[in-house]
Amino acid sequence: MTHDRVPGRRSFLRAVGVGAAVVGFDAEARAWATEGSVESSGAGAAAGSGAAADTLAEALPPLDGKLLTDPAALAPYADDFGHLVTGRTPRAVLLPGSVADIRALIRYCGPRRIEVAPRGQGHQCFGQAQAAAGVVVDMGTLAAIRVDPAARTVEVQAGAVWSAVLDACLVHGLTPPVFTDYIELSVGGTLSAGGLGGAAQRYGAQVDTAVELDVVTGTGELVTCSPTRHPELFDMARSGLGQVGVITRAVLKLVPARSRVRKYTLTYSDVAALTAAQRRAVRDGRFDWLEGAAAALPTGGWQYQLEGAVYYDSTAPDDHALIGDLGFQGTPEVAEFDYRGFVDDLAPAIAYLKSTGEWYDPHPWYDMLLPDSDTDAYVTATMAGLGAADIGASGVILLYPIPRARLRAPLLRAPEGELVFLFAILRTAAPDSGAESADAMQAANRALYVEAQAFGGTIYPVDSIPMTAGDWRVQYGDQWAAFRAAKRRFDPHGILTPGQGIFR
Ligand SMILES: Cc1cc2nc3c(=O)[nH]c(=O)nc-3n(C[C@H](O)[C@H](O)[C@H](O)COP(=O)(O)OP(=O)(O)OC[C@H]3O[C@@H](n4cnc5c(N)ncnc54)[C@H](O)[C@@H]3O)c2cc1C
Repeated sequence: MTHDRVPGRRSFLRAVGVGAAVVGFDAEARAWATEGSVESSGAGAAAGSGAAADTLAEALPPLDGKLLTDPAALAPYADDFGHLVTGRTPRAVLLPGSVADIRALIRYCGPRRIEVAPRGQGHQCFGQAQAAAGVVVDMGTLAAIRVDPAARTVEVQAGAVWSAVLDACLVHGLTPPVFTDYIELSVGGTLSAGGLGGAAQRYGAQVDTAVELDVVTGTGELVTCSPTRHPELFDMARSGLGQVGVITRAVLKLVPARSRVRKYTLTYSDVAALTAAQRRAVRDGRFDWLEGAAAALPTGGWQYQLEGAVYYDSTAPDDHALIGDLGFQGTPEVAEFDYRGFVDDLAPAIAYLKSTGEWYDPHPWYDMLLPDSDTDAYVTATMAGLGAADIGASGVILLYPIPRARLRAPLLRAPEGELVFLFAILRTAAPDSGAESADAMQAANRALYVEAQAFGGTIYPVDSIPMTAGDWRVQYGDQWAAFRAAKRRFDPHGILTPGQGIFR
């Protein structure tokens, strides 16, 4: 995947207020130009990198934070959770000490066509938060959280991680209504994608719980937007994959937190039986949280699991009344959690994967939203072609429904119909392992995507499926023109978040 969107002209742009030797940034060569020389951005460009960063540091007003330029400090920003796209080393990394730092950086970089990518926790899989020869803004330094119990909202800086937001809210007996399955992700990172989880069936995606955002646009302007203030920016920033601005602050709705959670895991032998039970449950809203998964059987093949949870304070739900009609096989698994333990229930598994090293293996992830009408046939056929080795030892397969009407952000694309199903094949590739290699998994994902696109499936863009320009147009459908117009308006220099590869 290439992301070069620089104009096809050689432009030496004179940097303002910098040392005489450096005349500016050569947009075509992606390199810093000095009088009489151009420093290469390719191999052996370490000195150029330093000069570039020095120039940037000098051009910016005094920063409240820091600009990292040391190659060792930059290296992690050329990688991410996927480990599929590496080597796009930025020229510098900004650790902002204030929103003003981000504004100053973008104001400098825009006219010089220097690309800028915000990065939360770097848990995307396909280079989405990277910027080759550009500047990565590590949002982790802007992570303040302030709960307003009376208004039942929380105001957060975008670098905050959801686990910290949860802890701050629980002090007041409140909680964000929707969490992703893993909660060490940044607020800005999930709001840029959408933020789906088992409570989306009730509240929509995390973006649907945002009531106000601060966004620094591609011209360095700081805009507060909401459904009533600059709604066009609000609509294009939510699930906007960082294309129109850097989200710096969000105000999110909260709901009362229950103290206990009772979780049911029900087993089914085939996809249609699972989805029939899920449809029944999602329509009558019996669960506060509803997901589903496929698990490899030791004898080969798959079994399917409905996972449903009910939140409560003192009176536990009646198990039989709740699940008696869901047609599962065998004995249901019933587990009790405190609320925080439930929301963070992946933590022990992740600690284990980190201890074995599998957490750091490549992650060719497939993540789609499917129309209900095609889900059973497509997922059944896909699962028939999958073996446990195709997803890797720590791979996970998710399948769960969300009422389409709950997903209200225009750029969180989903098929039409009453229900959509999230279908995710979260593969882990053993490095350099032949048929199980990341490349083979990527190719398999691409083939599956082409099939699903044909009947109206849309990517949930936290995946690593290689996309063509045409695929992006199909993905955004009737929102494509609005998205492209917003890109031109709010990011006129085309510098923001190049790693998504949408506007090339
Ligand atoms: C183990 C695991 C489990 C997951 N489970 C779920 C799940 O259950 N549901 C779900 O929806 N997703 C899930 N995800 C995907 C996750 O939500 C996305 O990958 C998310 O974008 C990662 O957040 P991050 O902070 O790491 O963002 P990054 O990877 O750092 O950034 C992601 C993208 O957002 C942009 N971005 C980051 N910050 C900002 C900002 N402040 N303003 C504008 N753009 C910004 C970046 O430039 C990049 O393009 C999971 C990921 C992992 C690794």
